[in-house]
Amino acid sequence: MIATRIALVAFDVDGTLTDNGVYIGGVPGGGESDARLELKRFDIQDGLGIVMLRRAGIIVAFVSARHSAATALRATELGVEHVVQAQGLRKVPALRALGEQLNVPMDAMAFMGDDLADIAIMQRVALAAAPSNSVAEVKAVAAVQLTREGGRGAAREFAELLLHARGQWAGLVAAYVQESARPDPPAA
Ligand SMILES: [Mg+2]
Repeated sequence: MIATRIALVAFDVDGTLTDNGVYIGGVPGGGESDARLELKRFDIQDGLGIVMLRRAGIIVAFVSARHSAATALRATELGVEHVVQAQGLRKVPALRALGEQLNVPMDAMAFMGDDLADIAIMQRVALAAAPSNSVAEVKAVAAVQLTREGGRGAAREFAELLLHARGQWAGLVAAYVQESARPDPPAA
């Protein structure tokens, strides 16, 4: 079964972990020296899905062809150690290099993406997933078509599907609920 051999799940960011919107503004510094500020909207339920993938022992990576500090901050919040982002990044060589570094072949990877830049990588990994807002060409190459949109639960839906298929979801939820009932750790 494909689900059990997945060792790494990589996510495109814009339109996959976000609603595809980018808020661009400036922090006043005076005229031309205004600092550029870019904000993205991430989904909290998606975040817990990503945490659950990591708890299941799966490596998670964010792969984006748009460099953004917001993406790096979100990855840090979720404990995602592998963030590959650069303007115009090509995802096939980028993910191949990450796989070589981590000793994970492409046939042990899953990828979730929504737009044309994701098609080549989706054709090469073991399991490709597409949020419901994906363009038609992406849906055509995705083995898993999600009912939720990017940035609105699609990543959570995929995490649950994958972990259910691996027989891990119920155990992860039980452990999480049990943990939530413990007293807070003492403040540092
Ligand atoms: Mg995208």
